[in-house]
Amino acid sequence: MEKILQRVIDNNRNLYKYGKVADYIPALKNANIKDCGISIIDKDKNIFSAGDYNKKFTIQSISKIIALMQAILDIGIEEVFKKVGYEGSEKPFNTISYLGENKTEKAINPMINSGAIAITSLIKGEGDEKFNKILNLVRTLASNPNIDYDRDVYISEKNTGDRNRAIAYLMKSKNIIGGDVESILDNYFKQCSINIDTIDLANIGLSIANRFKDIEINADIDKKKISSLLIAIMTHSGMYNFSGQWSVEVGIPSKSGVAGGILSVVPDKYGIGFFGPSLDKNGNSLLGHSVLKELSKELNLNLF
Ligand code: GLN
Repeated sequence: MEKILQRVIDNNRNLYKYGKVADYIPALKNANIKDCGISIIDKDKNIFSAGDYNKKFTIQSISKIIALMQAILDIGIEEVFKKVGYEGSEKPFNTISYLGENKTEKAINPMINSGAIAITSLIKGEGDEKFNKILNLVRTLASNPNIDYDRDVYISEKNTGDRNRAIAYLMKSKNIIGGDVESILDNYFKQCSINIDTIDLANIGLSIANRFKDIEINADIDKKKISSLLIAIMTHSGMYNFSGQWSVEVGIPSKSGVAGGILSVVPDKYGIGFFGPSLDKNGNSLLGHSVLKELSKELNLNLF
């Protein structure tokens, strides 16, 4: 397996030059655009890695999956989806357009920023408690109690996050979210700044792939149902307005983040973590697309 991973990385890593690192969050500009690493963990917990798999990066939008799970644990699926929809979107992740006049009174889905901020607002807790619950769930799913957040990235995003601020206030005006908007945003910016590596992501992927069977969950809710829901949402919204093409070409439910991470789940088989900060125009890792496409073909992982 490690030889295959190394070969796929070597075949694709030069493509970094066709993308660019995220710069709208100033602290993310410091990433090395050439980085490219992957980890796969199988059901027996064997870990296979290649490339720059030991680099740390911020989880960014991949945290939206964990926050969604926490909101479901706190208030249940039905309540969560009263404020956020199930449908995919052809708009970019930071779109504001669904929140215009006479449009839906829900955020369109939990993976674009509006829906994700709404999801964070639904997690129970005051002050930092929402974030701390998300951080603890990331640690549990990744089997890594040392995971923490990156203060510089958090401050950088907080200082420049006016578009997310606009989205959040618009949602408050439409009653999609309630309470202290700045506190909700603070929790959201912190959750996006959680520092991880590809092994952490692969472990999170395996927890979902395994239907959380080794995870203790403090709620009266069917673990298999949660994993199916997360996998469905990842399939149609995890790569934003690229999710359709991703499903056809890669066929592995995945969630991306603008720092270059990708969390991928091969149900009942593997968790996969990828890192490559050179992004395509949709804000997904460009190398992640080419590497996972080739790997999916090589290992016959396309679900469809
Ligand atoms: N923190 C980022 C933001 O809210 C997350 C976006 C992303 O990873 N696509 O803009």
